[in-house]
Amino acid sequence: MPFKSYDTHTHLNDDAFYNDLSTYVDRAHELGVTEMNIVGYDAQGNQRALAIAHQFPGMHVLLGFQPENAPEFNAPELAKLKMQLADAAVVGIGEIGLDYHWDTPVDAQMKAFAAQLSLARELNLPVVIHARDAMDDVYAMLKAAGVEQFGGVIHSFTGDAADAQRFLDLGMYISFSGIVTFKNAKDIQAAAQIVPLDRILVETDAPFLAPTPYRGKQNEPGYVKYVIDNLAAQLQIEPAELAAQTTANAHRLWRIK
Ligand SMILES: [Zn+2]
Repeated sequence: MPFKSYDTHTHLNDDAFYNDLSTYVDRAHELGVTEMNIVGYDAQGNQRALAIAHQFPGMHVLLGFQPENAPEFNAPELAKLKMQLADAAVVGIGEIGLDYHWDTPVDAQMKAFAAQLSLARELNLPVVIHARDAMDDVYAMLKAAGVEQFGGVIHSFTGDAADAQRFLDLGMYISFSGIVTFKNAKDIQAAAQIVPLDRILVETDAPFLAPTPYRGKQNEPGYVKYVIDNLAAQLQIEPAELAAQTTANAHRLWRIK
């Protein structure tokens, strides 16, 4: 029996999986991955995330509008999101943040990000943060929102050790995806060395970012096992220990009993 682990950021709500959920859930179970966060990103993704959690055990849900979909986040969507967040499967808000890699208007991104951070503060829900080519602005907005009070994680971390340190100083967690397994990801690997073991999370971000040895293939939730194997080797600890520690961290952050 493989060690048990927790994929803290996955998109079974994506078209890549949604019509064949049992296959991917079964395969994850075979690899010991018995717990997952299904993370929303737009209206349909949010609705599907809830439907998945109502269908399978061990699934937790985060709901939100990611930066690319920020222009769709209007007043009616905010009202709907607020209602959906009352569902018992929900453990947080996300993924939300800023992404300057694509050309989504920055003002719309900031407006949606700020509104969802306010909601997190109001409802006392931890947040999952998507930050791409936008570390300084994400940091400033999290600090201004008082993230220390409701908690959060930088998902699929792509910064360096100094970036990791300033988010740690805000009381946040750092989540590593398959990117940390790539040979050329030296800055991210250096960052992993300075994050205390009780602040590390692991994730797949499936269907994207498959870890070594599946780099370039379609990712899936079970592959968080390979992120753990690789990262544990970097940290010179046993994979089972890293799996147990990151699961405990996830339960603490999302207040899962
Ligand atoms: Zn994601």
